[in-house]
Parts: sequence; C-alpha cells; structure tokens
Amino acid sequence: MQIYVFLGAPGAGKGTAAARIANDADIHHVSTGAMLRDAVKNGTPAGLSAKKYMDKGTLVPDQVLVDMLGELLSTSKKDATIILDGFPRNENQALQLDELAAKHGATVKAAIDIEAPNELLISRLGGRQVCPSCGMGYHVTNMPPKREGVCDKCGTALITRNDDKPETIKKRLEVYAEQTAPLIGLYKKAGKLRTVNGADEADKVAKKIAAIIKG
Ligand code: AMP
Repeated sequence: MQIYVFLGAPGAGKGTAAARIANDADIHHVSTGAMLRDAVKNGTPAGLSAKKYMDKGTLVPDQVLVDMLGELLSTSKKDATIILDGFPRNENQALQLDELAAKHGATVKAAIDIEAPNELLISRLGGRQVCPSCGMGYHVTNMPPKREGVCDKCGTALITRNDDKPETIKKRLEVYAEQTAPLIGLYKKAGKLRTVNGADEADKVAKKIAAIIKG
C-alpha cells in the first residue's frame, strides 16, 4: 500500500485535486473530513462526538481519526494507492500514521504541500460548493458546475458546507497554521516533502500532483 499525504490549508485545493486524480487513475481518495461528515449524517457514535468540533472549526480528537483510519487500512487492498486528504493534521496524528502504516504494510511515499496565500483561501472557501456524493468541489464564480447547483460528475445536488461560514473559516485557518503547518517541516526533514502551487488552475495542480504520484 502506498500512501500520499496531502497537506495544505482549507481551500488550498486538496479535495479538488484528489477527486480529479482519483477520477483518472486507480487511486483511492480518502478524505477524513468527508468520512466524518458521513458519520455525522448517519448519526454514528464517531459522528456524534465529532460534530461539535467540526461546527466550531477545530480538530476532532485524534483517537476518533486514528480508529477510522486503522479500519480503512485494514480493509484496503495490499496494492492500493491511497491519497490521504486531511490526515494527518497534527504531529501526534503524523506519528500515529507511521505506526498504522507499519502495522498494515503501507509506506508513506510523500507529503504533497499545496500552497496558496490566505486571501485566496478565504475567497475560495466563501463561494465553495461540494458534491456530498462523489466529493467533487466547485466554486460559485471561479469553478461553477455546468448546471447550477448540480454535480457535473454524478448529478447529485451540491451543498455548501456547514463550516464554510466566515467565523468558522477564520478558525479553521488558525488551526491549520498552529497545528497542521508544522508538519511541512517534519516531512521535509524526512525527505518526503513535495510542494505545488495551489494558486494555479485546478487542472494544472492535479496534473502536477499526478506526475509526482506516477514518479
Ligand atoms: P475537511 O473536510 O478536511 O476540511 O475537514 C472538515 C473538518 O473535519 C475539520 O475542520 C475538522 O473538524 C475535521 N477533521 C477532518 N480531518 C481531521 C483530522 N485529521 N483530525 C481532526 N479533525 C479532522
């Protein structure tokens, strides 16, 4: 199993790139945020405990994520290529990921940091719409779907995320800077960091990352 970690602030385009890459190749896109939103929707114990953190824009306790990820890796095919979109988000999760990978015979091949300036992140998150079914991301003005409010890929009605409100956006960006951004240095030290410019157009970002994954 080969794992590619996607780093980058909310709005940098992690989900958009991952959905495009997974669409074109035999690559599994795992978004921990989407898994948590599903758990909330289905009213599972993990979802019930996660909701209050997600609504505030703070991190859900590590153990909830570690359990979810352990379950996922234990049921993934040995030759799978997995994009982790949204995990790890702090140092403890990065350590836990190494342990889980070792346990399940997986390798963290690279951490791909999608960089974008704060003003761009804020404007993207403000108009963001997502497909609750396939995870495809849109923006009301920058990247609209062909038919208003409907996913191009699977025809599902698009939604605006609960946590894409101005106060929560601000909090999520702070949490990223404090807890997740330090992972960039950690993966750099390990010789696994790759950086792409998230201000580029979505297809270009996805192509650059696909090339990194292909090697
Ligand atoms: P995302 O869709 O990646 O922006 O995640 C949405 C929300 O889910 C985040 O603001 C967190 O509250 C929660 N979340 C997602 N991934 C993690 C993680 N690895 N650790 C803790 N909380 C997470």
